[in-house]
Formats: sequence, structure tokens, C-alpha cells
Amino acid sequence: MTARRIDGKAAALAIRERVAAFVPAFVGKAGRAPGLATVLVGEDAASAVYVRSKNRATAETGMVSFAHNLPDTTSEDQLLQLVTDLNADAQVDGILVQLPLPPQVNATRVIETIDPAKDVDGFHPINAGRLASGLPALVPCTPLGCLHLLKQELGDLTGLEAVVIGRSNIVGKPMAQLLLAENATVTVAHSRTRDLPAVVRRADIIIAAVGRPEMVRGDWIKPGAVVVDVGINRIPTDDGKGRLVGDVAYDEAADVAAAITPVPGGVGPMTIAMLMRNTLVAAHRRAGLADPEGL
Ligand code: NAD
Repeated sequence: MTARRIDGKAAALAIRERVAAFVPAFVGKAGRAPGLATVLVGEDAASAVYVRSKNRATAETGMVSFAHNLPDTTSEDQLLQLVTDLNADAQVDGILVQLPLPPQVNATRVIETIDPAKDVDGFHPINAGRLASGLPALVPCTPLGCLHLLKQELGDLTGLEAVVIGRSNIVGKPMAQLLLAENATVTVAHSRTRDLPAVVRRADIIIAAVGRPEMVRGDWIKPGAVVVDVGINRIPTDDGKGRLVGDVAYDEAADVAAAITPVPGGVGPMTIAMLMRNTLVAAHRRAGLADPEGL
């Protein structure tokens, strides 16, 4: 295996420490710490783990977390009312509604109800539109984390061929916008793309955000490419516990690529670090302060 293993854990820790370092100065100016409200509806085990990690990370950076755990019988009106209350709460700078939501709730309507200034997930159409227009926005955490790792690895991305596999609003589309803003030449591939391996073989940068275990094979990768694997897939094992793998066949890819993110320990930790960053940025903007520099 020749590829460098990109350490997302270490990069995420560094970001969280930088965020924490900004908090005392913010408290000095605003008279309060930045606040993140998390909203979890129902009992989904993976979602509960994610939300707990987000609340813990918020406290560790010196910010305040407001955890709202609602039963899975919560109606859409009840959830919209909570979001409206959080929009009006001066202590709350960021609102994170954990997806997926139960079937009786229209997730789009919930996202559209969040104040765009508090939309630390960056999913509101105003923030998506601002990102696409090259205006200051709150940017979805996972693609922001991927971009951070890429720039750390490659420096300037100008002119590089980037292939993003997946076109979701959460990962693929904002990833493509971020890469475009960095002057990469961007292709967005998806389930209807013809001859995906041939498309991926052009890439200097591969972002896999599909949700299919080890779909991207070693022989799809141009020697020297940098691979960022967003996928989180649990595959069965003999002991019944299952094992997490990405969307890329790691061992094969690591024989060809220059650098690659592992799963776990790659993109995953970056998502939470960027949520901390977005909360800090939202707090500064809401308080009329300049964005914290270098984040
Ligand atoms: P999604 O299901 O919304 O989108 C998947 C995309 O993959 C779609 O655009 C689809 O067109 C494309 N696709 C499906 N089958 C394909 C195929 N055979 N060939 C090419 N493209 C195909 O998923 P998502 O929310 O974007 O998440 C993608 C993966 O990333 C999942 O495994 C998810 O768990 C993971 N994820 C990880 C993090 C993190 O923090 N690391 C965050 C979000 C999502």
C-alpha cells in the first residue's frame, strides 16, 4: 500500500481546538457563549449516537448545547413550533434537526422553517443558493470537511479534475459547488452516469458519496489521485457485530492513490468539527462580529 492515509481524526481535533480558542473572546464581546440547539425526533440508534457526539463536542469547545429529544410520534406542527421558538431564542446561534425524520414530518418544510442565519447544517435553500452564487453562506458540514482535507493534502486545487460521485443536497451537490469555487474542473456522477469507472479514471480528486459498500474499485483510480471516501456502510460479519466500510475498496485504492481517507476515521470526525465551526461562525455573524479568521 503506497497511499498516504489522511488522518481525519487529527485534522478534526485541530479544528475543534481552534474553535475552542475563539470562544473566550466571543464571550467577552457578546456576553454569552455560542449556543447550538440539537433536535432529535424518535429513537433511531445511529441518529442518537450522532446527536450525543454533537452535544458533547459543543460542550468540549466551551459552547452551550440545548438538546431537544422528542418522541417519534411528534407531529409536523409540533416540530415546526419548536423550530420557530428556537429561531426566536437569542441564546441559540445554530439549529440542527437530525435527519432522517419520521414519515409524518415533511423534512423539507422543517428545513425551510429554520432561520437561514442559524442553519448550521447549511441545508436551507437560501444557504444552498448563496453557496451556488458564490456569496457568504453556511455550508453543509460534510463537504466542508472534505474540502478542508483536500486543501490540506493538495494545497491549491486550481485546474484539477474532480469527480464527485453522488448528487445529494447534503453531500454531492454542495461538494461540487465548493470544488468549483476552488477552480477545480468538476464532474458530478450519479446512479444514471454511463461508464462510471471511465469517468472516475479521469479524476485527480475523487469524492465518493454514494452509500454502496466498496463500490469504487482500485482499477477505477488514476495513479496519484487523492480519494475522499464519504460513505458509511455497515456490512455483516461472522460475529454479528458488523463492520464499517466506505464507498471505496480501501486496500485496492490505497495501492494506486497518492492519499486516501479511511472509514472510520476520515471524513466522519470532520463533519462534527465543521458543525462546531459553523456554530461559531453563525454566532459571530448574528452578533455583528467579523468571521473568526483561519477557520
Ligand atoms: P443519498 O442516498 O442521498 O445519495 C446517494 C447518491 O449516490 C445519489 O445521488 C445517487 O445518485 C448516487 N448513487 C446511487 N447509486 C449509485 C451508483 N450505483 N453509481 C453512482 N452513483 C450512485 O446519500 P448521501 O446522504 O449523499 O450519503 C452518501 C453516503 O455518505 C452514505 O453512505 C452516508 O451514510 C454517508 N454520509 C457520511 C457522512 C459523514 O459524516 N461521513 C455524512 C453524510 C453522509
